[in-house]
Amino acid sequence: MEIARHLPQLFPIGMGLMCAFIAFCFYRELAAHRSLPTLREYFEEFPECETGRGVRCCECGSGSIWQHKTVWGPIFECRHCGEQLYRR
Ligand SMILES: [Zn+2]
Repeated sequence: MEIARHLPQLFPIGMGLMCAFIAFCFYRELAAHRSLPTLREYFEEFPECETGRGVRCCECGSGSIWQHKTVWGPIFECRHCGEQLYRR
């Protein structure tokens, strides 16, 4: 195998690429998390979405919200239209 002879040189490149990819994924999740308002900010922006029973989606009005866990904390997303609403 021709490639086997180059493995010692390719290994650190592969590790470097993998680390860069993991860092990129973490950064992308952090950016998505930080771009969302907190629940308090969400209610300030959309006071009509605060119902007596909980939270409504500001896009479609659905009360079906689910939690999507990220390493930076949960993101709350509308189950109906998929809109990301707020973070915690
Ligand atoms: Zn929705």
